[in-house]
Amino acid sequence: MSDLKIYNTASRKIEAFKPSGDVVKIYTCGPTVYSEAHIGNLTAYIYWDLMVRTLLANGFRVKRVLNLTDVGHLVSDADDGEDKLEKGAKREGVSVWDVAEKYIDIFKRDYSELELSQPAVWARATDYIEGDIDAVDKMTENGFTYETEDGVYFDTSKFEAYADFARLDLEGLKAGARVDFNSDKRNVSDFAVWKFIKPGENHAMRWDYLGRPGYPGWHLECATIIHEELGEPIDIHTGGIDHIPIHHTNEIAECYGAYGHNLAKYWLHCNFITIDGEKISKSLGNVYLLSDLDERGFSPMDYKMWVLSGHYQGTRNFTFDSLAAAKQRRLNWRNRIAECYQKDDFKTDTFEKVLAAVNENLNSAEAFAVVDGNDLSLDDWKMVDELFGLKLMEDSADVSEDIYKLIADRQEAREAKDYQRSDEIRDKLAESGITVKDTPDGPIWQYIY
Ligand code: AMP
Ligand code: ZN
Repeated sequence: MSDLKIYNTASRKIEAFKPSGDVVKIYTCGPTVYSEAHIGNLTAYIYWDLMVRTLLANGFRVKRVLNLTDVGHLVSDADDGEDKLEKGAKREGVSVWDVAEKYIDIFKRDYSELELSQPAVWARATDYIEGDIDAVDKMTENGFTYETEDGVYFDTSKFEAYADFARLDLEGLKAGARVDFNSDKRNVSDFAVWKFIKPGENHAMRWDYLGRPGYPGWHLECATIIHEELGEPIDIHTGGIDHIPIHHTNEIAECYGAYGHNLAKYWLHCNFITIDGEKISKSLGNVYLLSDLDERGFSPMDYKMWVLSGHYQGTRNFTFDSLAAAKQRRLNWRNRIAECYQKDDFKTDTFEKVLAAVNENLNSAEAFAVVDGNDLSLDDWKMVDELFGLKLMEDSADVSEDIYKLIADRQEAREAKDYQRSDEIRDKLAESGITVKDTPDGPIWQYIY
């Protein structure tokens, strides 16, 4: 058994992590591909990448599935509002299929730029419709559904544990139900597992089921994909805290209704970030993309450094000043790697301390403090880089023989008090992004950026 401990939303406790089999099965709720992911959306994938890397560092094998919601996700969680893909299609004057294609490509590009470990399966919701239909049939056979004019609904009163996961107050929900509550529903918390398309309704993605065109409810894709690609119960299911009361609660209900199984053992949820103390929203003009950060001189690795410098459950406030501090910290780490090339390497066990910090419920903030406060050998740095995926080693290559020669020439010029020559060499080094610092032990080179 490893020393890894994680906070399990299901129990509301920090628990020792014990996988069910040889391979840790992980599922991550992915993006709805109708627009670009902003930096808030991307935090989740950075934290779950840390989860995967932490498991690997602890010697586990991992199979991870990440879904891409390319169908049937309505703007509101409550089975009404506009379909997000249709909204994207209308906005851009293209088909829903083109919208999905475009934003899947962009998401995968951002994902790679953030150096996030690739899942074993990228699961597109539209590739699992047969499985969705099969699951609805099973839920119906098992007595969990009823049909209304606009769809097939899950009767949440039939699943005794429905309220448990999110500690829902169903009575309170009932009392607070909106006046426009869909009166065909038997209970406020009931949700569509399948939606019918009304004659004349503009919904391009459609499949025939029960003799009519329709499409799956949002939550169903995750239950189906998990069933087909991993087999429930999986070890770890991840998402944002907003998924707890509806999306994940409903995935659990569907899995139980269709297959009689528990969906997942450990549930991890990350918190939301604010920007300059505000919610991320179009009206505030703070919906930043990675490309916006790039325009201001910050790389995806700088952003990842910022994200990992805080805990995944914390409420975090993004500012450009704090991003600049994260960038500076990364440069400082790279210069410490550079220092390792220039002195006799030594043995340390700092990586063990870093891993121990991360093993405490993915406390990357504490792990970063351990890196800041201890000596690291080159081997430590390599393992730290592997654990956080920060491209530290790739961006901190040792300099060439020519550069070392220039540094020696500069030193010689200084000793000969030929300051003009030593300044010329300094400028030349600066062109290669290198500066030389004079220390009591002699000159050492550092990266400027
Ligand atoms: P949306 O496209 O706005 O529905 O967001 C997709 C997912 O990204 C949500 O379900 C959240 O889990 C996550 N998310 C949205 N906004 C933020 C934020 N400000 N910080 C962290 N995660 C967010
Ligand atoms: Zn999901």
